[in-house]
Amino acid sequence: MTDHNETDVVERVPKGLLIGGSWRPQAAPGDGPREFQVEDPSLAEPLCSLPDAGTPDALDALDAAHAAQPGWAAVAPRERADILYRAYQELMRRQDDLALLMTLEMGKPVAESRGEIAYAAEFFRWFCEEAVRIDGGWQTSPDGNGRIWTMRQPVGPALLITPWNFPMAMGTRKIGPAIAAGCTMIIKPAHQTPLSMLALAGILQDAGLPAGVLNVLTTTRPGEVCEPLLRDGRIRKLSFTGSTKVGKLLLAQCADQVLRTSMELGGNAPLVVCEDADLDKAVAGAAAAKMRNIGEACTAANRMYVHASLAGEFTARLAVRLGAMQVGRGTEPDVVVGPLIDAAGRDKVARLVEDAVAEGAKPVLGGAPIEDRPGYFYPPTVLADVPATARLLREEIFGPVAPVVPFETDEEALALANDTEHGLVSYVFTENLRRALWFTERLESGMVGLNKGVVSTPAAPFGGIKQSGLGREGGRVGIEEFLETKYVALDA
Ligand code: NAP
Repeated sequence: MTDHNETDVVERVPKGLLIGGSWRPQAAPGDGPREFQVEDPSLAEPLCSLPDAGTPDALDALDAAHAAQPGWAAVAPRERADILYRAYQELMRRQDDLALLMTLEMGKPVAESRGEIAYAAEFFRWFCEEAVRIDGGWQTSPDGNGRIWTMRQPVGPALLITPWNFPMAMGTRKIGPAIAAGCTMIIKPAHQTPLSMLALAGILQDAGLPAGVLNVLTTTRPGEVCEPLLRDGRIRKLSFTGSTKVGKLLLAQCADQVLRTSMELGGNAPLVVCEDADLDKAVAGAAAAKMRNIGEACTAANRMYVHASLAGEFTARLAVRLGAMQVGRGTEPDVVVGPLIDAAGRDKVARLVEDAVAEGAKPVLGGAPIEDRPGYFYPPTVLADVPATARLLREEIFGPVAPVVPFETDEEALALANDTEHGLVSYVFTENLRRALWFTERLESGMVGLNKGVVSTPAAPFGGIKQSGLGREGGRVGIEEFLETKYVALDA
């Protein structure tokens, strides 16, 4: 580590498993407590060690979450809301040091991390407002012979599993509605980026969250920790954000106990630039949709379909824009492109680009990993005339690579955009209202960015269709994922 501030923010993080309100090491009968190292991907150097939880720790956390559930469900909604609001305020007060912490473990530039802290905090503000608006229903039965009364109740203890790419926001997007609804929970952050979650758990404790409501398990053994919980019967809900591959495995495990599930899975977002698009807007939107989070976002534009009349100019302007972006350690001033998360992530991007070029794509910018410094860097890359056979049009790239494919007609662009098993988000750039409606109604995705490269906001329902997931996070419907509806038939 290079500077005092960096050492300080890492030291301040509570480094234990949070179980039943206490921080403790991993309980390892026989072989002593197990730990694992968290790494700074910009230096490929360790930041600190954390407990590596196993099945016994998971079952202890489940005992705690299960025991706390009835009491927590009975806490007044206003009290639950106030805890969220205090945590929101503290997240914003500590925005700078939490941003630095996130940059150290994940790599994104500090300015982007600050943006994520604000975005993450906003989920708490949004759901504190929802906590006091949970309602039910009352109606006369159609035959007039009874009353139909519905009430909303917390679904019960929930297991929350989050990915490394948005270490704080993917947590608050689940924890916010779970607290608002009155659910206890166990959260398992990704092994690459657990520090932000531990810091957040400390903030929630200080904000007055009762012991056992939030339990945190850091681990490199996700299967050993999560599968016994999903098969136990006391967990009633899984909320997962991560890859489609792991999501499918977990859905199969959830079938055992018929668990409620929310699945935010992988994407393969198309970005369509129509012949009447405003090119300034399209290039800016494409750069934002591609480069946010170093391209490591489920919402990243993975494939850019550009009308043949604009493809040359669009590609050249995008290359100039991305080429001007400074690559480096996220803590350095002016850096806008940090490292990828690890060697496997960088090597996957490199392989996909090599494959595309071998198939006939033309590199206009970048095209090879940066080898002359430590860390896992890949430069902004633009590929022109990418053929349909290139693997990166089918697989999530998860890096700063923009493949451009020209098209001739709207029907062709729509067919190409929808030709994927994923359906998280699509982007369309057009100045024509009729064409905009035509595309937005036909694109097979849970979200559409219309003349806009960023769709995420806590006030909107975020989620996908097809193999991109089940359920929605955020917006008015976000809390529904943590509530059950009970109907009472009245003979009145
Ligand atoms: P991942 O490999 O699926 O991991 C996600 C989480 O699942 C991590 O906490 C991981 O733990 C855990 N996990 C892995 N194997 C598991 C198992 N057998 N049982 C229980 N948990 C397990 O995905 P990732 O590489 O971290 O994240 C990138 C993916 O997330 C991309 O596909 C991206 O599109 C998707 N994503 C989707 C959204 C959305 O809202 N739709 C948002 C962000 C990211 P370990 O860290 O220990 O492996």
